[in-house]
Formats: sequence, C-alpha cells, structure tokens
Amino acid sequence: MAGKDEQKKEENIEASFQILKQTVPLLLKHRISAIPTNYALWYTYASGQSAELNAELDKMTENQRPLSSAKAQELHRAYLADQQEVSTWQLRQSLEAMLVDLTQSLTDTKTDTQGFKHSMDNCLEDLEKVEREGWSVEEVMTLVREMVRETQQIKRSTLDFSASLATAEKEIAQLRRQLAESQKDALYDALTGLYNRRVLDEEIAAMAPDQGVCLIMIDIDHFKSINDQYGHQMGDRVLKAIAKRIKDNCRENAVAYRFGGEEFSVLMTASKLSQAIHQAESMRRAMERVSVIDRRSGKNLDGVTASFGVAEYKKGMRRSDLLEQADKYLYEAKRLGRNRVMPMQT
Ligand code: GH3
Ligand code: MG
Ligand code: MG
Repeated sequence: MAGKDEQKKEENIEASFQILKQTVPLLLKHRISAIPTNYALWYTYASGQSAELNAELDKMTENQRPLSSAKAQELHRAYLADQQEVSTWQLRQSLEAMLVDLTQSLTDTKTDTQGFKHSMDNCLEDLEKVEREGWSVEEVMTLVREMVRETQQIKRSTLDFSASLATAEKEIAQLRRQLAESQKDALYDALTGLYNRRVLDEEIAAMAPDQGVCLIMIDIDHFKSINDQYGHQMGDRVLKAIAKRIKDNCRENAVAYRFGGEEFSVLMTASKLSQAIHQAESMRRAMERVSVIDRRSGKNLDGVTASFGVAEYKKGMRRSDLLEQADKYLYEAKRLGRNRVMPMQT
C-alpha cells in the first residue's frame, strides 16, 4: 500500500515537473514576467486543467500582443484565486521535483567518478607492467590515450553537473520566492490588504479562554446602494478606504480582517468586553469621517456608516459561539436603525 502511495507521489512530482518545464518557455514566449500570478496562470495553462482558461489565453495571445497585467489579474481571480492552496501545493511539488532531478545528477556524477577511479587504477597497474614486462611504445601510447579519454569524460560529466547545479540553484531560489509570495497571497485579502477570513479562522482556532479575546463584527450599512448608485468600482474604492480606516484605528491589541464582501472583523486580545465596545465605538465614529471622491462626478461620497456587533470569549463557550454572538449583536444593531454598536456600553 505504502509502495503504491510512494509511486503515485513520484508520478505527481514527475508530472508537475514536466508542467513546470513547459511553463517557463510559455512565459518567455509571450514576454510575461514571472510574478506569482502569471506563473500560476501559465502553470495551469500548461497543465490543461481548465479548458476555459486555456481558450481565453489562446484567444488573447492570438494577436501576439503581450498580456496586460490587469487582464492577467482578472483571469487569475476568475479561474485560480479559489485554488490558491492548489497552486501553493503545485509549487511545492515543483520544488521537490527539482531536488529529485538534482539528486539524480549527483548520483550520475558519483557513478561516473567511481568508474573513473576504477579505470585509473587499472591504468596504474598497467603502467607498472610497462617496466616489468617491457611494453612497446605502441602499447604505452594506447594506454596513455585511454587515460586521456577517461579524464576528458570525467571532466565533461563534472562540468555538466556543475552547470545543472547552477541552473537548478537559480530555479530553486526563484521557486522559493514564488512560494513565499503565494503564501503571502493566501494570507491577505487582495482588495484591501487586510488579513483574510482564513487567518481569522486560524486565530480563533488558536485562542485560549484566558487571553481575554473579544471579536468585533462590522458590516457597512446599505452598501448595495453605493454600488447601485456609483458603480462597483467606486464601491471597491469605498471598501478600501474603510478597510484602511479600520486598520488605522486598531489599538495595539487589535487586528483587522476582511471577513468577506462588505464585512470586516477585529479580533482583540487582553481585552474586556467594555474595552472592545469602546474600540468599536471609536471605529464607528472614525468611519463616519471617511470621504471618497467620485471620479465621474468629481463629488465627494461621504456619510458611509457601519453597524457593529461585539462579543467576548468566555470559559465554557465553544469557539464558534464567539462569531455567532458577535453576529447576533450585529443583526441587533441593524434592526435598531444601523450606524451603532451593540451591545450598548453599560
Ligand atoms: P445592510 O445595511 O443591511 O448591510 O445592507 P447592505 O446593502 O450593505 O447589505 P447587502 O448584504 O444587501 O449587500 C451587500 C453588498 O455588498 C452586495 C454586494 O454586491 C456588495 N459587495 C460585496 N463584496 C463587494 C466587493 O468586493 N466590491 C463591491 N464593490 N461590492 C461588494
Ligand atoms: Mg453584509
Ligand atoms: Mg451591509
């Protein structure tokens, strides 16, 4: 059973290495820089995992123009963003494949070197015979030719190895950077630059009851109507401005996350409920002052508000209760007329 798994793993590594080898020429051919987004895009292209993506890329490269980075981002978002973990996994596989390849080169060189030593030993033995047995010039020359040939061969194979070592080292460094980058992408929300939901979930999973953990859930009020009135792009800019305002107003013990859509979370440690409510209240007031200029009309869009729900993690609670309770208070804040923090400060 274990043998079968091992074989499957090797097949995976080999397959991903083959795809990796096709990806780099594609980037070069289409004059595309090897940033992680592009790399992941063209890796997926080479793997043929998505017929739709391949059709789109084929269509776009038909006219020989370089792919714009905006379009690349768009495709990445449409076809790959959800598969971040897959592409990180694939990168890791590529790294492993590279190491396997390198180890093979090393083994080859070692075998060659052993062969060389063996034939040199033979030659030395023969040399001793030259005097002992009185070899002819012809016989001596044959022996010398043999030694020269062997020496040249070992030199070539060592050169081959150091060349492949240099290439592999470069490629490994590049892959390491890409791996680090893609792991970074997996932590941050692309639009706002805040930590994403996944990181929040991990933090909640790791919290201890004695840390004084509080969670603030934030939901922008009537955000849909901002999109409807000013367009989605303007909506995005408002989201960015609000995210920045939330982050800038985080106290030392508070960290902001984009929970999803127009919802944000702030996780606090070493904090009592009353302190978290206070933090939420100061964020709410800071948010009221957000103003974003609408490029189309030149007018300022302001008066954006949000509703807040706050909860404290207490002994005996399940971890999921923290989110549920903060959500319940957020809903309460909406029901009572929005632009407020619930529960109220006692
Ligand atoms: P409420 O006060 O009850 O929260 O009303 P709302 O309109 O904010 O709530 P609703 O859930 O009805 O709408 C949320 C909207 O947020 C809908 C969705 O199109 C928009 N939205 C979600 N994510 C994004 C995004 O990344 N960019 C933009 N521009 N809009 C987004
Ligand atoms: Mg919402
Ligand atoms: Mg909303």
